Formats: sequence, C-alpha cells, structure tokens
Amino acid sequence: MSDSGPDTLDGRELDVAIIGAGVGGLYALQRVRDQLGMNALAIDDAPALGGTWFWNKYPGCRVDTESSVYAYSFDKDLFVDWEWSERYALQPEVLAYLNAVADKHDLKRSIVFETRITEATWNEDKSRWALTTAAGDTFHARYLIEGVGLLSSSYAPEFPGRGDFRGEVLLASKWPDNPPDLAGKRVGVVGTGSTGIQIITALAETVGHLYVFQRTPQWCVPLGVGPFPDATRRRMREDPEGFRDWALNTGAVFGFVESTVSALDVSHEERQRVYEAAWQKGNGFAFMLETFSDIVVSPEANQTATDFIKGKIHSIVNDPGTAELLTPKDYYAKRPLAADGYYETFNRDNVTLVDVKSAPIERFSRAGLVTATGEYALDTLILATGFDAITGNYLRIETTGRGGLRLQDKWKEGPRARCGMTIADFPNLFMVFGPFSPFTSQPLVHEWQIDWFTTLVQEAEARGGVVDTEQSAEDAWVATCQEQMAGTLFAVTDSWINGSNIPGKPRASMAYMGGMAGYMAEMNAIAEAGYRGFRFG
Ligand code: NAP
Repeated sequence: MSDSGPDTLDGRELDVAIIGAGVGGLYALQRVRDQLGMNALAIDDAPALGGTWFWNKYPGCRVDTESSVYAYSFDKDLFVDWEWSERYALQPEVLAYLNAVADKHDLKRSIVFETRITEATWNEDKSRWALTTAAGDTFHARYLIEGVGLLSSSYAPEFPGRGDFRGEVLLASKWPDNPPDLAGKRVGVVGTGSTGIQIITALAETVGHLYVFQRTPQWCVPLGVGPFPDATRRRMREDPEGFRDWALNTGAVFGFVESTVSALDVSHEERQRVYEAAWQKGNGFAFMLETFSDIVVSPEANQTATDFIKGKIHSIVNDPGTAELLTPKDYYAKRPLAADGYYETFNRDNVTLVDVKSAPIERFSRAGLVTATGEYALDTLILATGFDAITGNYLRIETTGRGGLRLQDKWKEGPRARCGMTIADFPNLFMVFGPFSPFTSQPLVHEWQIDWFTTLVQEAEARGGVVDTEQSAEDAWVATCQEQMAGTLFAVTDSWINGSNIPGKPRASMAYMGGMAGYMAEMNAIAEAGYRGFRFG
C-alpha cells in the first residue's frame, strides 16, 4: 500500500470497510485496524480526509461548540497537547487537527480517496457485504461501518434559469478549493441557518454589497469568539480522562452542564440576568440549555427566551422594519445559531435583507436573482441551503440487507434503527451517529459509539461472525425516541431535525433525546445483559 492508500479495491476481501474519512471514519479506522488488528480500509469520495471539515471551507466556517469537546480522547497526548488557538476553532484548524491525528497514527495508507461507494449488498451465504464503487469496482467486507456524517448530503434548491446567469453560483457545503475573490463584489446568500450566518458575518465587511435572501429568520445569539481558555487547557491536562468523562456525562456533551432550573421558577429580573449573562458569554447551545432546563420543552419557558432575543434584535437593528423581518415567529427549537455581530451586520449600508418568504425567489436572470418583487444583480450567489440531514447520507448508497430488503424501502416513511448504530435485517452494519443517536455534540460521542459497537464486533467474532439487531428491539428503541421527541418543541418546529427542511421528506423523529448519560447507561445495560436484543450466528 502507498501513502495515499491502496491502488485498487476491486476484488479485495476486508474484515472491515469503513465508508467515510471524516471525524467518525478516522477513529473507526484507528480502532479496528490498530486496536483490534483487523484488516480494514476507509473509503471516501473526497480527495482528502476530513469529511464535513474537508468540504465546508466557506468564509467564516468554524465550530460553534467548544473546541475542547470537538476532539478525540483516545489519544490522550493529542487530546491535551493540541494547541487550539480559539475557543471555537476555525475550519482550517479543525482540518489540521484531523490530519495530525491521521499522520500520527499513519491512517492515510489505509484510506482510499476519490472513491464513491454506490451499492452495499449483504450476502447471506457468505456472511459479508459486497460493495460497489462508482467506478465499478467490487470488493467485500465482513463488517461495514458507515461514518457518512449527519449533515453531508447537500441540499440545493433548483431555481429556474441557472444557465442564464452570467455570475457564479457556489454551494457552501461544497466550497471550491480556489474560490473567487469576493472583495468588492455583489454577493447574494440564500439561507440563514448556521452556515448562512457564518458566511454573512464573515463577508459583510469585504464584499461590495451583500444581499441576504432570507426565507425564515432564526433565533441567533453571539458566539463569544476568543482565545482558547487557559483554565480549560489546565483542566484537560491535569486529568484528561476526567475531563472527557465529565463532558460525556453532561446531557448534550457541549462542554457545559445543562441547567436544572425551570425558566418559570425564577423572577423576571433573575431570568433577564441569566439570559444577559448567557448573551454576553455567547454560544447557542449554552443559551438554550445552560440557562434554564425547559426552554425546549415548555412553550411558556420558550417564550421567555424568545422575548429576550427579540428585545436584543430590536435594540441592535436600527431599522424597525428590518428588525421585525429578522425576528422569528416560531419557537426557539431548531438547532441553535450563534455568530458574533449577526444582527449588527444589518445596520451596514452595504447589506440588504431581502424577504423571500413574502416574495419568493422565482428564477435566475442574466444579471442575478429575480424574486416576486424585483431583480437583484449579483456577481456571485452562495447557496447555504442546508442538508438532507441524518438519513440522506445513508440513502445515497443503494443498500440491500437480508432477504433483498432495501434500506430505501425500509426507511420510506422515516428511519428505523436501534441505538443510533444498527438496523434490523442489515447485519454487521454499524452507523456512526446514525438516526436515533443522542442529540449531542459529535466527536466524543462518535468515539464512544465506535468503542461500543466494535466491542460488539469482537463479541460477534466469538459467536459466529454475524450480528443483527432484533426487530422488536429496534421497534422499542424507535418508539422511545419518538416519545422523547414528542415531548419537545423540536417536534413542532420546522427544521432538519425532523426532516421538514427537505420538500417531500417524511417528517419524523430521528434522535434520542434522553441525554448522553442516559444513552450510555442504556447501551451499557444492553452489553452487560449479553447484548440483549441482538442475535449472533
Ligand atoms: P439549515 O439550518 O437547514 O438552513 C438552510 C437555510 O436555507 C434556511 O434558512 C432555509 O430557509 C434556507 N433555504 C432552503 N431552501 C430555500 C429556498 N428554496 N429559498 C430560500 N431559502 C431556502 O442548513 P445549514 O445552515 O447548512 O445548517 C445545517 C446544520 O449544519 C446546522 O444546524 C448545524 O448542525 C450544522 N452546521 C454547523 C456549523 C457549526 O458548527 N459551526 C456550521 C454550519 C452548519 P427555511 O428555514 O425557510 O427552510
């Protein structure tokens, strides 16, 4: 094998094939190849590793959860010695970190790049997966790990007339290696989710004019960008395992402890004090979860948060009409947004907010974009229009399990899976952070899941080489998750969390909302009961 991975996949027989060389795939590779001594390869359609952090390199891209928990813990030296420069690392730093991990563990020689897996078919007779690439190569693996990402199947609406437009259209989630220089240009951004707000705040100062095409406003708080805190670094160095375990045992693994106090149990003055402190500190997840315990479950508590943010919007944005357009009308119950100076951006003379809810985008013209009320001349249009999240990445691969069952059919009305990791009738297939995983930050949870299911692989190796989850156990897991989700405002607020961002996608519960500590307890109990609900053989 060369440093850039093996030359050909055709005809290879592997113990483990890993789809994806992002945060999940890289650790899965290290774990099965180096810790378990299995013959494994990772396959990725990108030309280099990093997954999300390879593709999403748009202006302003950074993690908006603390860098301290956006890291692996399996290599304790790297966990504590990596010198994160910022509290919320920028994309180049995250990518550099992932490359450093891969280099230290010599992972690149086991990764095949620029290769798309198009089909995965379980062969019952031979107890192995047959995998086909877009180039037509076929190879086999006894176990299949899909580290395909939660948010990697890009969604881009197709506005008519694309061919007429003389300018460029860029997709934020597939940002080009050599992007055009946008300084002084007329730039449009469609989309005001986590991606859009990072681009908008990053570009506003340098472009000639920025048109923000907003369909639905979202509640946004400051991020609180700054240097990586020394206190956190000291804490991590003093006790790396303790820090990791502490983070994993918080509800959502974001590097803070969630509040246990109801927003409705304190005085108005106390609420304002708490919200103001959270606003000053920054971080969307902290504003939503560290302030009070019931913002995402109680409409009344939710309104106390939205009233506060609404007040901020109206005090920051000079033009009352613009402020009103920026103010959401729904619950604060989407994946929370955070960016410094977002609302301030709309006071700039070179920034125009275009309401495409009341006057939708109709088509491209030669000069730019046409909405129901006007034409906007643009040099570049950036689409920050999101992802076919959670399930889209799996459904891109034509996957066939036992008895010819197609995943595409099984998930027609929404995903069915157990523990966020396994799917009944798709034996020896493991997902990293698949549907019905806990609603948490990712890297530490990826690691935890990978450790859990590869320990199950070891058990399978000792018990016949095949493991499948029982249908009844999967049904019970899905029912639990649906019940948990139904108790939250995420269920009734349109966003990718329930699939409602994609036209025609079934609305569904797709996450375990019982918190990471509860999740780990359930997973550990299953393992301790001899892998209850799994069949071996
Ligand atoms: P998103 O939250 O789904 O936002 C997509 C945006 O595009 C929405 O404003 C949506 O409007 C708009 N849109 C879609 N189709 C449209 C159309 N036809 N016309 C006009 N507007 C349209 O996607 P995202 O911003 O890429 O974020 C997705 C997730 O990725 C985040 O929630 C987060 O989990 C992750 N992410 C994380 C980071 C980070 O950690 N720093 C950064 C970026 C992304 P509607 O709301 O009206 O549909």
